[in-house]
Amino acid sequence: MEKKRTKIVATLGPVSGRPELIEALIREGVDVFRLNFSHADHGVADRLVQAVREARERLNTPVAVMADIKGPALRLYGYAEPIPLSQGCSLTIESRDAAGIESLVSDSPSRVFTNLPDIDRLCSPGQRIVLMDGYFSSQVVEVGRDFVTIRIENEGALRPKAHLTIPGADYPIPFLSDKDIADILWSVGKDIEYIALSFVRCATDIEEVRRLVQRAAVSSGKKPNFKLIAKIESARGLSNVDEIIREADGIMVARGDMGVEMPIETVPIAQKNIIRKGYLAAKPVITATQMLESMIENPMPTRAEASDVANACFDSTSAVMLSGETAIGKYPVQVVRTMRSIIDAVEKEFDYDDFHLLVPPEVKTGDVPAILSYSAVSVAYLCGAKAIIVLTETGQAARLISRLRPRMPILAFLTDKKLYNQMAMNWGVRPMLHSGKGARLDEVVDEALGICKSSGILKPGDKTVIIAGLPLAQQGSTNMIRIETLRSDS
Ligand code: PEP
Repeated sequence: MEKKRTKIVATLGPVSGRPELIEALIREGVDVFRLNFSHADHGVADRLVQAVREARERLNTPVAVMADIKGPALRLYGYAEPIPLSQGCSLTIESRDAAGIESLVSDSPSRVFTNLPDIDRLCSPGQRIVLMDGYFSSQVVEVGRDFVTIRIENEGALRPKAHLTIPGADYPIPFLSDKDIADILWSVGKDIEYIALSFVRCATDIEEVRRLVQRAAVSSGKKPNFKLIAKIESARGLSNVDEIIREADGIMVARGDMGVEMPIETVPIAQKNIIRKGYLAAKPVITATQMLESMIENPMPTRAEASDVANACFDSTSAVMLSGETAIGKYPVQVVRTMRSIIDAVEKEFDYDDFHLLVPPEVKTGDVPAILSYSAVSVAYLCGAKAIIVLTETGQAARLISRLRPRMPILAFLTDKKLYNQMAMNWGVRPMLHSGKGARLDEVVDEALGICKSSGILKPGDKTVIIAGLPLAQQGSTNMIRIETLRSDS
């Protein structure tokens, strides 16, 4: 089967943790498994990571794990049972100290507590407040010292620890909670490939995590080779998206929270802009949330969901993500199969040949690696190459080719096993391992061509474009393009 270029991220949860199911999901096309630390604890996460690692070894295929850190969440406390709310009723929300808030009990069902300090300073009468991820809408009718009273606009049951959102507000809470720090340290201890950070507001948030990760890696004798994904899901994150993309290793369009933090009509436009900025920066972009949501319950998606996945692929997202669909849904295998078939259909129609011609001038002629990667893609089209082989130490040369979305597979030859799994996330990249024993370029090229032939990717007579750096094994030295035709004795 031809490998798809757009990658699939699938969230693991109670229904998807069985080893045989994880293996089936990889066979159907999952490239990255996400652990959602809003729900998973370390014991469960340990077992899931182990199962993914065993499955990818058995199948001899690159697969990454992404730990998704909960981030600064605002919640409601003070009640243990759902509170019935009706249209027009009032609810008072009081700011309380986050320490110990979980054990507080309110003396009235119309008074609840929040870990957001100084709620009165963020609200004035008329302010919209959203509860339970958009289930309840409301308006502030009274503001007092450390509390607001809201009028509820629809009916339902308010679940314990429901999310609180004040659209557009900049919440005065630290970026990392104690739980987040513990989850990041767990990820470093487990050598997880990607760490996704929720509600990133600016580049400084990512710098803070990078320092934490580096300190933890050094003190445990690990390489600090963790890739950080910034989840864009707030107005502030979106307004700082350029500096965030510069600092992060990848980006996620987290449409779930974005859709409550910001007016819903801005989400599709933000999605398109973030995807374009991400790939032009040669960083992977994940489009996330509710992509095939109805398949949590049903064996087929809605037509609108199928179009949503297809349009994200036409916009050139690097990866599409499944959340509840694989974590708690009834049809985890079928949903991945469906997503894959939508991707396959788009990839038959995608306009590869013109893509690199239409990128902005700085992508074609920026620095030496930019010029070289652009030239490699042009040469690959001119000579009818069947693949672009990239000999890369850091993966950057392959990412620079990937941002040009070429038709031919990008075969990234690496020696580092962790990078091999990390590059499962990148659009169009097929990570491949070589021995690293070759001292001269010709030896490494011969080994790479031999692997391509024995694995059936290339056959005698096929042309390939090879891009590499001399001296070999030196980071950031990409400076050479060459065309090779596979000989029958390769
Ligand atoms: C989202 O909000 O879209 C998202 C991916 O984050 P989470 O699932 O952690 O809320």
